[in-house]
Amino acid sequence: MLDKVVIANRGEIALRILRACREMGIKTVAVHSVADRNLKHVLLADESVCIGPASSVDSYLNIPVLIAAAEVTDAVAIHPGYGFLSENADFAEQVEKSGYVFIGPRAESIRIMGDKVAAIRAMKEAGVPCVPGSDGPLGDDPETNLRLARDIGYPIIIKAAAGGGGRGMRVVHSEAHLRAAVSLTRTEAQAAFGDGTVYMEKFLERPRHVEFQVLADGEGNAIHLGERDCSMQRRHQKVVEEAPAPGISLEQRKVMGERCAEACRKITYRGAGTFEFLYQDGEFYFIEMNTRVQVEHPVTELVTGVDIVKEQLKIAAGEGLTYTQDDIRWTGHAVECRINAEDPKNFLPSPGTITQYHAPGGPGIRVDTHIYNGYTVPPYYDSMIAKLIAHGEDRASALARMRGALSEIVIDGIKTNIALHQDICSDAAFAAGGTDIHYLEKKLGL
Ligand code: ADP
Repeated sequence: MLDKVVIANRGEIALRILRACREMGIKTVAVHSVADRNLKHVLLADESVCIGPASSVDSYLNIPVLIAAAEVTDAVAIHPGYGFLSENADFAEQVEKSGYVFIGPRAESIRIMGDKVAAIRAMKEAGVPCVPGSDGPLGDDPETNLRLARDIGYPIIIKAAAGGGGRGMRVVHSEAHLRAAVSLTRTEAQAAFGDGTVYMEKFLERPRHVEFQVLADGEGNAIHLGERDCSMQRRHQKVVEEAPAPGISLEQRKVMGERCAEACRKITYRGAGTFEFLYQDGEFYFIEMNTRVQVEHPVTELVTGVDIVKEQLKIAAGEGLTYTQDDIRWTGHAVECRINAEDPKNFLPSPGTITQYHAPGGPGIRVDTHIYNGYTVPPYYDSMIAKLIAHGEDRASALARMRGALSEIVIDGIKTNIALHQDICSDAAFAAGGTDIHYLEKKLGL
């Protein structure tokens, strides 16, 4: 097993990784910015290293400093968590070149999947169904692009090949707007991601977001852990997730899950990964693959009993997968609410000191959070401060437990979106299951 791991992240996921390491007898190194000295995992880690000022560019995104932290602490591996450098192929490459284990896929896999055009091509070859689209990057010839869009049929969506985090996308409803939309998205993509490559897809009008979790050992073995529904979104950002996805049959899960696992075998993928699909009228359309652990991984853990972070560590240590596909069973239903420090009216981040925190509890309740009484949420990073997860024997009981937990949890001193979650979890259409990706924004009147 790995002897000592650097946790190259912050907040709840850093704490989640620390807990998995402890359980497995792995020593931990917390790296943190000047603003993050009081993070819970920093206080709990075997060692900690301050890696720079508050700004992420100078700390959590600073590759040489992160590798130096591994060097000075004699660590053997680096876990990137999610966000920050987790899907940065150069980081993975430099970590491995420096002689450390990168707890994630090989740089080459990250590179392919980070380029959405290349990812779609690879997935098509592996037999995974994709959204009808331009089948490659768009050129500058307006006539060719017009013809492409006409063939696909409006509305279409222009997407940045290097896009992420819901940015770098633009919907076009008619021919008159196509040319401007392509050039605007290209300019934005160049500015935001340093890559102006864009492509075109059919814009699905009322899809759900359904994604499959996979685990692969890097030796050609892979399994899937079933699907999650993450359709409750605002600005392409997930707000509530659940597993399994309502209305998806065991048969559909087996077929699609197996296709994803097969795609992993084909590219000898290593580590945890997620295949994201849009699901509409009974059909799945691949949109992208995430080559890291995801925020919403706990819902899958609760219904399968598999500890995804421990599996990541085992795979990275070269110990392979604990489970075969036949070992995987799905029990009950799990729902996750992402609790953000944000103003409920305008959704702007609301950092500050937490004066009171009371955790909810009871059967089937899990809270993944780094907050505590007196903790100050810094203004520099993502506003998510906690994940509240409820598991029940079925969807109705998971939702009932979630409603109970939401009424119990107290976070005072800062503004949060807890009221929004209460509203969602008492919503009749959501309770019925199967609402699409536009449902939340419509409900909010956006
Ligand atoms: P990102 O990498 O930024 O998360 P994705 O490609 O995963 O980008 O898309 C994010 C979200 O954007 C999806 O969950 C969905 O809500 C919306 N979206 C993306 N492609 C399409 C499409 N072809 N039709 C409709 N909605 C889409």
